[in-house]
Amino acid sequence: MAEARTALLKRAARDAMDYLEAVDTRRVAPGPEAVAILNALRGQLPPGPTSAEAVLHLLNEYGSPATVANGGGRYFGFVNGGCLPAAMAAGWLVTAWDQNAAFLVQSPTAVVLEEVALEWVRELLGLPEGTGGAVVTGATMANFAALAAARYTLLKRAGWDVEADGLFGAPEIRVVVGEEVHPSLLKALGLLGLGRKRVVRVPVDGQGRMRADELPHLDGMTILCLQAGNVNTGAFDPAAAICPAAREAGAWVHVDGAFGLWAAASPEYRKLTKGFELADSWATDGHKWPNIGYDCGIALVREPAALKGAMSVRAAYLETGGPREPSDYNPELSRRARGVELWAGLRSLGRQGMAALVERTSSHARRFAAGLKAAGFEVLNEVVINQVLVSFGDAEKTLRVIALLQAEGTCWCGSTVWQGRTAMRISVSSWATTSEDVDRSLAAMVKAAAETTKGSF
Ligand SMILES: *Cc1c(COP(=O)(O)O)cnc(C)c1O
Repeated sequence: MAEARTALLKRAARDAMDYLEAVDTRRVAPGPEAVAILNALRGQLPPGPTSAEAVLHLLNEYGSPATVANGGGRYFGFVNGGCLPAAMAAGWLVTAWDQNAAFLVQSPTAVVLEEVALEWVRELLGLPEGTGGAVVTGATMANFAALAAARYTLLKRAGWDVEADGLFGAPEIRVVVGEEVHPSLLKALGLLGLGRKRVVRVPVDGQGRMRADELPHLDGMTILCLQAGNVNTGAFDPAAAICPAAREAGAWVHVDGAFGLWAAASPEYRKLTKGFELADSWATDGHKWPNIGYDCGIALVREPAALKGAMSVRAAYLETGGPREPSDYNPELSRRARGVELWAGLRSLGRQGMAALVERTSSHARRFAAGLKAAGFEVLNEVVINQVLVSFGDAEKTLRVIALLQAEGTCWCGSTVWQGRTAMRISVSSWATTSEDVDRSLAAMVKAAAETTKGSF
């Protein structure tokens, strides 16, 4: 049995390596034929077993071609980071270990490495000592966890135990967000019973930054949500102008810094994050800028006891008594040891490597912006970090260029509407992207735009 398993895992490793070696030579998004053959994986669950080799073969034959080449250097959609080799290799080991990271007693390795990784993240992001947190699945869950800590704290101060008694009849919490709030933060508010629509929206400027002069009255029953890194423009709310007064007023300040907060890891870009360290809680992603691989989000709270107040569960069989039990800080109980991949990725980068990743991807973004401007197209945002918005003309023309580019396959970019204007979004978020990738992609963009113009006559 052990021999068969070893053979199978070697085969899987071989398939994975072959896949990665070819990932830069294939088209970035799968073509319609590749997606169509996925049908081979549908159908009813067979009554009897299938050999593991045959299952793996099915996946490789029919599954691999219909993946998106996220691991290559020319995927610029959404804010999808790549996966650092150290994080990927650690992930393989983590899968072999099959640890449950809920309690120390279940996996000292998982729990200790998660603790160390959280402390490294805190330092890289320039956050106060004593800040603690949780490794979750993404920034959506990180926003959720941090806002649960905020809800717990504000209501506790008002004499209300929300964990025990729920929100019916509770004192009101007011939530203030910027007009450009990320939809996942609103979703987190909905999950917490605070409401997706029941928010005060603060107007923003042309880059999507909250206007400090438009802030409403803040008090001890307010959660103020700031953003470090707008998903379209990469812009940062003016935290230094907002946070001191917000804290003075007793408001809870939360920061959605899914990718932008990592600018703090670079001496060159750190100034963009000034003032965010004054907040009470932060949400960020390991799977975006740090290239840890999916899924990896991080919730951080200045007073970790607040997170514990919202998350801990008690039962006789769960009295485990470790000094820091992950389950006390996490929405989940049983969970993958994803902190190990975070530890491995950060350990491989070091402080300088993380800074270099931020700087290199941001300089690639500027190279894109300069190349597109030189070709006569309009860049809609100030390129402050790794995000570029470009218009190829009117909405229809821009969407046609994007569709052509996606089908041509050299690279992949998505579309957005930025303050009323349709644009193509470029997010340079992968360690694997080179200057050559940028130049090849630029050439493909310019060609797609030229062909669209021709076609319209
Ligand atoms: C990506 C993103 C999120 C959501 O993160 P997930 O990891 O996809 O859950 C939230 N806020 C901002 C600003 C983002 O860029």
